[in-house]
Amino acid sequence: MAFDVDMIRKVYAGIAEKIDLARALVGRPMSLTEKILYSHLSSKVPQFVYERGISYVDFNPDRVAMQDATAQMALLQFMQAGRPVVAVPSTVHCDHLIQAKSGAKEDLEFALSKNKEVYDFLSSVSNKYGIGFWRPGAGIIHQVILENYAFPGGMMIGTDSHTVNAGGLGMIAIGVGGADACDVMAGLPWELKFPRVVGVKLTGNLNGWTSSKDVILKVAGILTVKGGTDKILEYFGPGAESLSCTGKGTICNMGAEIGATTSIFCYDKKMGDYLRGTGRKEIADAADEVIQHLRGDDEVYENPESYFDEVVEINLSELEPHINGPFTPDLAWPISKFADAVRENDWPKVLEVGLIGSCTNSSYEDISRAAAVAKQAADAGIKTASEFTITPGSELVRYTVERDGYLGIFEKIGGVVLANACGPCIGQWARHTNDPSKKNSIITSFNRNFAKRNDGNPNTHAFVASPEIVTALALAGDLTFNPLKDMLTNSKGEKIKLAEPVGIELPEKGFAVEDAGYQSPAEDGSNIKVLVAASSDRLQLLDPFPAWEGTDIQGLKLLIKVKGKCTTDHISMAGPWLKYRGHLDNISNNMLIGALNAFNDKSDNVKNQLTGEYDSVPKVQRAYKAIGHGSIVVGDENYGEGSSREHAAMEPRHLGVRAILVKSFARIHETNLKKQGMLAITFVDKNDYDKILEDDTIDITGLKNFKAGIQLTVVLHHKDGSVEEFKVNHSYNHNQIEWFKAGGALNIIRAQVNA
Ligand code: SF4
Repeated sequence: MAFDVDMIRKVYAGIAEKIDLARALVGRPMSLTEKILYSHLSSKVPQFVYERGISYVDFNPDRVAMQDATAQMALLQFMQAGRPVVAVPSTVHCDHLIQAKSGAKEDLEFALSKNKEVYDFLSSVSNKYGIGFWRPGAGIIHQVILENYAFPGGMMIGTDSHTVNAGGLGMIAIGVGGADACDVMAGLPWELKFPRVVGVKLTGNLNGWTSSKDVILKVAGILTVKGGTDKILEYFGPGAESLSCTGKGTICNMGAEIGATTSIFCYDKKMGDYLRGTGRKEIADAADEVIQHLRGDDEVYENPESYFDEVVEINLSELEPHINGPFTPDLAWPISKFADAVRENDWPKVLEVGLIGSCTNSSYEDISRAAAVAKQAADAGIKTASEFTITPGSELVRYTVERDGYLGIFEKIGGVVLANACGPCIGQWARHTNDPSKKNSIITSFNRNFAKRNDGNPNTHAFVASPEIVTALALAGDLTFNPLKDMLTNSKGEKIKLAEPVGIELPEKGFAVEDAGYQSPAEDGSNIKVLVAASSDRLQLLDPFPAWEGTDIQGLKLLIKVKGKCTTDHISMAGPWLKYRGHLDNISNNMLIGALNAFNDKSDNVKNQLTGEYDSVPKVQRAYKAIGHGSIVVGDENYGEGSSREHAAMEPRHLGVRAILVKSFARIHETNLKKQGMLAITFVDKNDYDKILEDDTIDITGLKNFKAGIQLTVVLHHKDGSVEEFKVNHSYNHNQIEWFKAGGALNIIRAQVNA
């Protein structure tokens, strides 16, 4: 397997010059975050001093990572670009579609047969286009990335919000939508709002039951779930250097829970040890040579208040183990206060399930610390009172911890080892429960604990803690158990006090694996066929969208005038629709079904102007499409906020909606619409929203002179024969206007590739 040594050496070869140029421009010492961002600008030389939290900037990431659920549409789109191979090193990881039910072997076998067509597609498309493919069972994307691809000073985007995990190896790693991944694989730059930077100074040393997990549980409590928005958290200080590399990964991973763009640690000895321990000595050696560029300037860390937008300080020596929840990861409880909180809030005291592992906490160190707790119980003849599951993050870790006896210890206390996959963390969990209507408690070492996240049950109170605390509580079966002071009782009635767990950062005998589950892409993929069955209802190859007809757009039917909030979830709902992520026509049957119709205050109920009847939004739109009528969607403020889901832009485009006219757009969705060749326009006078009537037919004029900064005109033809018109704004730049004319950004790339 290639570790991209050449690519990484190239990054390091140019890093000093780029950072020096940027520092001269900025005119002050720079944080690590700024160094990495400036050294990944898509322009060769930094042109501007970017305003943190304000400027939108184009970057060239070094890699792309995709998980199997989101990779489907990203790769279907990438195929449209016409490139023979991806422009940057990329990987696909099959982790999200494996349901946890009986245990690793059975669950993996079931997933392989249930998701066969998806896996066949991902495997063949990866093989063809030069993409590394990690088979089902190989592990969870972020753990596999940390073990194989993350590198200090690099920049990566990934189609999963916990891509940020790679900050533990000093990388700016950011979760994005499939459209962004597609662009970067196709060779386009990637745009990001230049983030603000929060400095998190760590002093002291972890001790006893406290672990890296508790650092981020504490930070989540301080900054809350919104505190990281448009910010990067940069950890520094002697405490940061004392944490293991995988512990740093855990902290960065859960930065997603406070909405942070990403989190990062400076390159240090622990990272070097981890790189060497995972077979990447050459990368550690190369990083050692440029170490001064893989950390912020000393002045920044000496005077953090002068350089960071915000500073948080935590003394690890004083940090208690934490348990966060329920229902939100920022409800942070030091363990000394937790039992009282359980009683005062009447949370179910009986702990039904403890779950350890996931991409957040399944390193060798995590497993060894949890096993240190489990072994004491096993030696005393105690089994877990709760159900107890272990999800290894990768086959490399699983194989190694099995070899070293840890899995056997967990099994001795009643643990069930699940597949190396997301499973219960993403709700892929056939939980055994007799009465789902009953309030119940579970505790996990995962990252998210929003209602229904793990088992789909709103009555489940999910708490988050370190693997060793989860293991201790599962042994007790009691949420109020505090292993720092309480005792377990064995079958002979003897009281057992658990000793503080001691972990091992890296396996003494080294990591081992028989089959890591990796498939290299073909050297020459030109003759490889991408496998998509014509009859599939989960996958569908895409056809290019048609180019603009070269005239004003006339006679558009009003499909829906949306009232109030309209997120990407209102436009393209998740839940049961997720299985159609790779089938644009099928998933389009959810288009705008969550949006509220301003004329009747109902969702998924709009007037079909052809019949006068009311019907669901996709059905009405399909009726217009069937006779070649375009349509328009009118919306309110911040239309398209929420996730960067590209389906929310592709579905209307696919079904024949030509324009979206709103009071204001969420920026990412607006850009996604532009990329798909849609017209995204905004009212100049927001009161014009009231002029739109239910039976309107609408023209958009001025398109022959479509230029940046020049308004377009909307003409309303009302049912009574009257006509009104008003100006609308757009934010298209020259390139984006070319996307519109060509029918989408990918049509342009394909034309360039074919030229
Ligand atoms: S283990 Fe959980 S958080 Fe990690 S990638 Fe899977 S679903 Fe996401």
